[in-house]
Amino acid sequence: MTHYICTGTCGGVAEKPGTCQSQECPKHGEPLDVCECADGKHEGVMSVAEGESEDEE
Ligand SMILES: [Zn+2]
Ligand SMILES: [Zn+2]
Repeated sequence: MTHYICTGTCGGVAEKPGTCQSQECPKHGEPLDVCECADGKHEGVMSVAEGESEDEE
């Protein structure tokens, strides 16, 4: 089932599109990312977000 998650540190999850509501989160106020995982781990979305800082060559 589609849900929306924050890829910051708050671990926020919502059933509808929106923005991060945690003021202590680095992504506060930023749009939530769509996730369609079934196990609640959000691995697909999280791995994409972390991939940006991965720069091995
Ligand atoms: Zn957040
Ligand atoms: Zn998920």
